[in-house]
Amino acid sequence: MEIVGAIHGHSRYSDGRGTVEEIRRAAADAGLDFLILTDHDTLLPLTEVGEGFFGSTLMLFGCEVSPPTNHLLVLGAERCPDRSLPPQEYLDDATAQGALTFLAHPHDRGVPLARIPSYRWEAWPIEGFTGVEIWNHLSDWSGHLMGLGSAIRALREPALALAGPEPETLRLWDDLGRSRPVAGIAGLDVHDVQIGRPPFAAHIFRYPYAMRTLLCYVDVPAWNRDPAAAKPALLAALRRGRLHFANRELGDARGLAFHGLRQDGEPATMGDEVRAGEVRELRLKSPIAAELRLLKDGEILEETRGEELALAPTGPGVYRAELRLRRNGRSLPWAFTNPIYLR
Ligand SMILES: [Zn+2]
Ligand SMILES: [Zn+2]
Repeated sequence: MEIVGAIHGHSRYSDGRGTVEEIRRAAADAGLDFLILTDHDTLLPLTEVGEGFFGSTLMLFGCEVSPPTNHLLVLGAERCPDRSLPPQEYLDDATAQGALTFLAHPHDRGVPLARIPSYRWEAWPIEGFTGVEIWNHLSDWSGHLMGLGSAIRALREPALALAGPEPETLRLWDDLGRSRPVAGIAGLDVHDVQIGRPPFAAHIFRYPYAMRTLLCYVDVPAWNRDPAAAKPALLAALRRGRLHFANRELGDARGLAFHGLRQDGEPATMGDEVRAGEVRELRLKSPIAAELRLLKDGEILEETRGEELALAPTGPGVYRAELRLRRNGRSLPWAFTNPIYLR
């Protein structure tokens, strides 16, 4: 079944403005099934607040290992790895704890307008990570502020200001996928930064708003309010890339489906690695009429407008889908599936 939630947020345990209580209330009010906060270099809330269900929202704590560059999201660890270690070592520490690791905003542009430097991933080669944060809300929004005019527009209509995942990040994802499955997630990176003072203060972004933007729609085998079962189910699904992610502000991507039909009638789902000859058709279904694109190894194989797209795969490759919606006469990035890997 499909659950919807948010990953990557900061509270007062690091540089966020909100308390954990405030943030989890915002997630519950937004109707999220889960929320994973990832404060910089600390897992203190794990012991001081504790994980569990708050209403119908599962609240989990990961952390973001945050040296000046090479930020790593660590989910499911007991102890946040030491950011003063070389990146491969803090990643290996997380892996040894059984945690999931995602390269955070790997092609962050910094904030040109505020001369904030880029927090990109630079430590190549790097091995053994679970996946990549493909779309980071804060990074996308702030990386395109080029002047006062664009900043004012972006504050007025933040959803329209999102440019989508960095093309370099999508390329990286497609390239990595040729040798192994690499889970892709979207992250909010919400801090609720306040700029200026009331009554002229601007907030980038408040928690309740952020919880309605970039969300992850995850397929889990079952979901009930038992944290002992729900947490491993969610983490296992994220590890396997059984999710799509979307900008909820443009439209709810619940029910979006991308799967392969095998010769034996069994479906292949996102994150699966299957022998190429075994899949006779790939099917994409959208809950809203949209611009649908099916890509193979980063190249568009087919695109159409509507709610469904089906085609026969053309040999081995990394197959995934991108969906766009038209708003105000513009085509905007909306939803992205994880790949199905045909080998
Ligand atoms: Zn970061
Ligand atoms: Zn962050």
